[in-house]
Amino acid sequence: MNSNFKSLSQDLESVIFSEAEIDSMLDRLAKEITERYRESVLERKFVLVSVLKGSFIFIADLVRKLDLPCEVFFLRTSSYGSSTVSSGTVNVEGFPDADKLKNADVLLVEDILDSGRTLYKLSEIFRTIGAHSVRICTMLDKPARRVVPIEVDFKGFEVEDQFLVGFGLDYNEIYRNLPYIAVLKKEIYS
Ligand code: 5GP
Ligand code: MG
Repeated sequence: MNSNFKSLSQDLESVIFSEAEIDSMLDRLAKEITERYRESVLERKFVLVSVLKGSFIFIADLVRKLDLPCEVFFLRTSSYGSSTVSSGTVNVEGFPDADKLKNADVLLVEDILDSGRTLYKLSEIFRTIGAHSVRICTMLDKPARRVVPIEVDFKGFEVEDQFLVGFGLDYNEIYRNLPYIAVLKKEIYS
């Protein structure tokens, strides 16, 4: 593998969001979030929780545009069951200390909202441990794929049902470092 490596871009069908488009989307989201929490940070902790690995670039860029005091936590999730079909059970690793989240305003930060199972389950856990509020911020939303009802509070872009890579999103752990969001050529994954 990689012996004849040329460029990651040769594996892409098309770029759907350029670096410039992503940057203005981040500006817009940061403004919306700053507005929403501007008052509450005077009374309560504001905590962003990034769902790894896919959201690592999104959250890094987003927090640098927020003019608010905030804490940042990271956790990992995985669905387990058969390898191709999600069982609908979500496994969480690295959950933050519950004491740190009690009565906090929690904002879950995801790369892409698909079936919605991951964020549905996570929201439930954060509410159970006593967060004051739990909201959702997702870079991308694929509403056509939703299987559980979920409300998105802050949304980057809505996308069609196609497989995307870049800006944190991977295929087999590769392509996360692309600075834009693209559709992968079918021949790469079929
Ligand atoms: P769900 O909403 O189904 O619980 O999980 C969403 C997760 O599925 C995302 O965090 C991401 O890991 C994965 N996913 C869904 N659609 C795509 C896609 O188009 N590209 C990539 N790379 N991952 C996706
Ligand atoms: Mg994810």
